[in-house]
Amino acid sequence: MTKQQDISRKKSAELFEKAKNYFPGGVNSPVRAFKSVYGTPLFIERGDKSRIWDADGNEFIDYCCSWGPLILGHNNDQVREAVARQLDNGLSFGAPTRLENELAELILTHNRYIDKIRFVSSGTEAVMSAIRLARGFTKRDKIVKFEGCYHGHSDSLLVKAGSGLVTFGETSSAGVPKSFADETIVIALNDKQALEEVFTSFPDQIAAVIIEGVPANNGLLIQDKDYIHFLRQITKEHGALLIFDEVITGFRLGFEGAAKYYDVRPDIITYGKIIGGGMPVGAYGASRELMAHISPDGGVYQAGTLSGNPVAMSAGIAALRVLAEPDFYTKQEAKTQAFVEAIRAYIERKNYTVQIFTVGSIFWFAFTDRKSIKRADEIDPISMEKYKVMHRSLLNQGIYFGPSGYEVGFISSAHTTADLDHTIKAIQIALDTVFA
Ligand SMILES: *Cc1c(COP(=O)(O)O)cnc(C)c1O
Repeated sequence: MTKQQDISRKKSAELFEKAKNYFPGGVNSPVRAFKSVYGTPLFIERGDKSRIWDADGNEFIDYCCSWGPLILGHNNDQVREAVARQLDNGLSFGAPTRLENELAELILTHNRYIDKIRFVSSGTEAVMSAIRLARGFTKRDKIVKFEGCYHGHSDSLLVKAGSGLVTFGETSSAGVPKSFADETIVIALNDKQALEEVFTSFPDQIAAVIIEGVPANNGLLIQDKDYIHFLRQITKEHGALLIFDEVITGFRLGFEGAAKYYDVRPDIITYGKIIGGGMPVGAYGASRELMAHISPDGGVYQAGTLSGNPVAMSAGIAALRVLAEPDFYTKQEAKTQAFVEAIRAYIERKNYTVQIFTVGSIFWFAFTDRKSIKRADEIDPISMEKYKVMHRSLLNQGIYFGPSGYEVGFISSAHTTADLDHTIKAIQIALDTVFA
């Protein structure tokens, strides 16, 4: 077994101690607290291309990429310059700007699945608004979501499965009224029977079924095309809308995201993360007919002081222009595939009990011998202990993965072949440590 020297986290630890006086758990978003891995969270000072540097001066190749938004890596030239240009013209007006048109045009001309879009400031807000639209349009209240899909932290969606095949959800957070949770039904992924039962149990009551394009917040749970088509069919038959939450997959699997990946037409699509080029932006889009129900055209109210913020729009436009270049996604996928294959070959040679699941430029390590994982309950929580060991070894070798085994990794266009080769070697050493 390789003896590992832990990197210094002295300055990060000091900052974290201070932060605990100011913020609950010392953080402004829970997963940042490193509760699921070893050590104190790293306080990041700076990022450039594939790299980030922490307060102690440690350098890392970053595969968290701000949880997905940074598909072009850190400090991308085009994005930085676009933001800098806008800074000279003002930060916010609360009035329309041509930049909103530009970003919308970029998105809509590259996407067959939506006619109109509305910009908001986060993924949570996008999903919350999409649900309101579905309820307003169908005049029904219930929402069906899947165990293992994350849709942000709004009340209706902080709900986990109760016991039984089809039940009302139970809140997964204090502060969510039971009456709200009662409007959300949670079922397992990849289970046609559960879908049938849910529509039999609640006839004419379900406004929408929401699913993550490719579920990627609780491991990477790649669904069968056949199942997604069944989902499309059954929602249509029962007059319920199908919402694709593409906050991760949107602009990650291409401009048409998971909708194209499965070749299915959802009724409403939500976006976030990549769409803002690293700035806070979310959006939801749908057909012209559905979007006509949004205020001020229609009766579904939704607004935002900083919605369509010009600085954020500039970042989004600059990023999406790069993504729209021919072959951008083909290159990203080829790079990711080669990376994953190299690690798989090593795993096979060593006969280690670990899989790497991948789609587009997303990857996920699962410490299991299952060849496919499609449902949340197929993930063994005990296996996360192995991830903790891998995570620590990787940090010590200058590789930054998300601080939880349930989180996926992202490869950006800034990751070079040399970065990836270096990372493959580090992962081999990390796996040797895990399985020593
Ligand atoms: C990140 C995420 C959200 C929430 O977005 P925020 O910008 O964090 O509010 C919603 N849905 C999915 C699929 C996500 O990955």
